[in-house]
Amino acid sequence: MPFRDCIGHRRLLAVLARAVARASLPPSLMLAGPTGIGKSRVALALAQALNCPTPTSTDTLEVDACGTCTSCQRIARRTHPDVLLIEPGSSGSIKVDQVRDAVDRAAYRPFEGKRRVVVIDDADALVDQAQNALLKTLEEPPAASVFLLVTSRPDAMLATIRSRCPQLRFGPLSDDEVVQALRRANFSETEARAVATTADGSIGRALAATAGDLVESRDIAARVLRHAATAGDARRRLEGTKELLSTTGHGGAEDREQVSLHLRAMASLLRDVELLATGADATGLANADVRDELDRLQAYHGDRGLRAFAAVDRALAALDRNASPKVVADWLLLQL
Ligand SMILES: [Zn+2]
Repeated sequence: MPFRDCIGHRRLLAVLARAVARASLPPSLMLAGPTGIGKSRVALALAQALNCPTPTSTDTLEVDACGTCTSCQRIARRTHPDVLLIEPGSSGSIKVDQVRDAVDRAAYRPFEGKRRVVVIDDADALVDQAQNALLKTLEEPPAASVFLLVTSRPDAMLATIRSRCPQLRFGPLSDDEVVQALRRANFSETEARAVATTADGSIGRALAATAGDLVESRDIAARVLRHAATAGDARRRLEGTKELLSTTGHGGAEDREQVSLHLRAMASLLRDVELLATGADATGLANADVRDELDRLQAYHGDRGLRAFAAVDRALAALDRNASPKVVADWLLLQL
């Protein structure tokens, strides 16, 4: 898809379009930012803009691919001979052979396009040997080639690679932008709004949290909140931990992601409870479809809700820093 159809990142897209229009694009670039926000789509849009024989422009984009010519379509389908996409294999890493092959091909003039574009997705998965093989090419880039390294963990890459690639920093998407992406994926407006609030600006995360998971997380979050609101003493309160950990047991990162999902659903419920308490218009609710549930959480009107919201936020931050889900859940239950 051309730049104009990418979601969000307007300023970066304008910068890239200007660089293409003025032929000032560096021979290698690092597209860095959170996962699931469309970085590799932007990389392909850039490959299209560089190669489209019939480019167009808009108010904000000095140049953009047409999106419909053979070149644009083949790039979108990933079958263009001059646009190479390198991704981690089943091992999860990118091996040196994959890089050598791309580097060899990049040394020749493009077959049919104007520029040969090598997109390395999840570039932080390049093994060190592969990064070193790439380094020589980045130091003396072939004239008609562009290397685009897409990564959510630029710091995991060798400093020598980072110093050769100017970094474009992508930020998270806004909730509205995530909703827009989900609507394109055939989510209903209500569903999209509900999922977007738990996605932290990542389309990838939003899509991963399928509607089913979301509903389950929200049920768990509501049950935990109700339990904490009625449990008298600390011992009783801590029983809520079991509920919060009920979908865990797979280990480390996956468990933390599960509990985070429940906590994001909890934050979303608390936000809605607060909105209702302040008499806000019900159309702004993320969880309008479970209005009854929101009414049952009246214990969280006012200060208690605000404190609970802040505690959930801290719990999420702790999980991000790899804290144990059990420790975080226990702590949170005592704060709610
Ligand atoms: Zn085109």
